[in-house]
Amino acid sequence: MKPFKKAIYVTKPVFPKLEKFSVNLEYIWKAQWLSNNGKIHNQLEEKLTEYLKVPYLSLSTNGTIALLIALKALDIKGQVITTPFTFAATVHAIKWSGLEPIFCDIDPISMNINPKLIEKAITPRTSAILPVHVYGTPCDVNTIKKIAKKHNLKVIYDAAHAFGTEIGGNGIGNYGDITMFSFHATKLFHTAEGGALVCKEKKLKEKVDLLKNFGIENEEEVILPGINGKMNELQAAMGLSVLELVDGERKKRRKISEIYKIELGNIEGIDFLPYMPNIKKSYQYFIIRINEKRFGKSRDYIYEELKKYNVFTRKYFYPLCSNFDFYKNLQSARAENLPIANTISNQVLSLPFYGSLKEEEIRIICKIIKESRN
Ligand SMILES: *Cc1c(COP(=O)(O)O)cnc(C)c1O
Repeated sequence: MKPFKKAIYVTKPVFPKLEKFSVNLEYIWKAQWLSNNGKIHNQLEEKLTEYLKVPYLSLSTNGTIALLIALKALDIKGQVITTPFTFAATVHAIKWSGLEPIFCDIDPISMNINPKLIEKAITPRTSAILPVHVYGTPCDVNTIKKIAKKHNLKVIYDAAHAFGTEIGGNGIGNYGDITMFSFHATKLFHTAEGGALVCKEKKLKEKVDLLKNFGIENEEEVILPGINGKMNELQAAMGLSVLELVDGERKKRRKISEIYKIELGNIEGIDFLPYMPNIKKSYQYFIIRINEKRFGKSRDYIYEELKKYNVFTRKYFYPLCSNFDFYKNLQSARAENLPIANTISNQVLSLPFYGSLKEEEIRIICKIIKESRN
């Protein structure tokens, strides 16, 4: 086999037709309005509220700032229990808020925070849980809700991978006190950079809106020490155009995941994400787990093999956040406390996954993987 002439990356952002995007731009030029609750921003907020089937949504400049705002809006203090098996932003947001992240190990099947271990991590200083719907797989929301209620903790969900995920027809943003979505270019739905917070109470949405605009109530009153977390009209215009393409993109990705599953389905040592009945998937990533003992070669070996053929996969999530230099000395970060996360972090590989990926390309990628074991 020859390497691909053009590099194949793990994802390709959804690009709207330039003519479609231009219509929104023309509107912005006519209105001469660029930020602070512009018409396009408000329109996108409305459309996303409906699409995600949630009560209230507030757009933000990116998902990380949205997380910071969520922690402020809920007045979180002390310690926050989270997962080490996530993107750096989840844990950094806790740290940047002057809070202490407490790592909790993950479930070996769902790869989300293991609710059975959350209670053991609670101390008198714990005030919140920040779970992540990793790869768009819903967390055990019911158990987490019970634990939070029992111990009077807030729950902030990181749903950066879970745009459009539903549990029995219920939007994923309806669980916990606040849910964060990221609209970064690499996410299925994007605004180039962007994000949103979702909540159930109007009061909380108003507080979030205040916090993302410096806490400015009116021209003469600043009532909270806020930040600049606003989404501008150009981002929102991208969002409106991309939103029209999301369902089509998801359909294409579903087909791609079916091809991957046929090609790699019967290979000893390669496993997929668990089948979850009653769940509408986000199709954010296509993840395989490589068990070195059973497959014969390691995840890192396959990653390097694919690179030789110009295929650039990603080790989501390696390294674990708990192994970053500046977190690794935390008591909860010790590898013996996080055996499952440390194991899985060395097994997962995110394969190329985007609507325009061709069937022929998928088959070659799978062939490279299959032949790598020889
Ligand atoms: C993308 C991502 C974020 C951060 O979102 P940004 O919009 O890039 O700031 C947070 N958490 C997870 C799990 C993500 O994948």
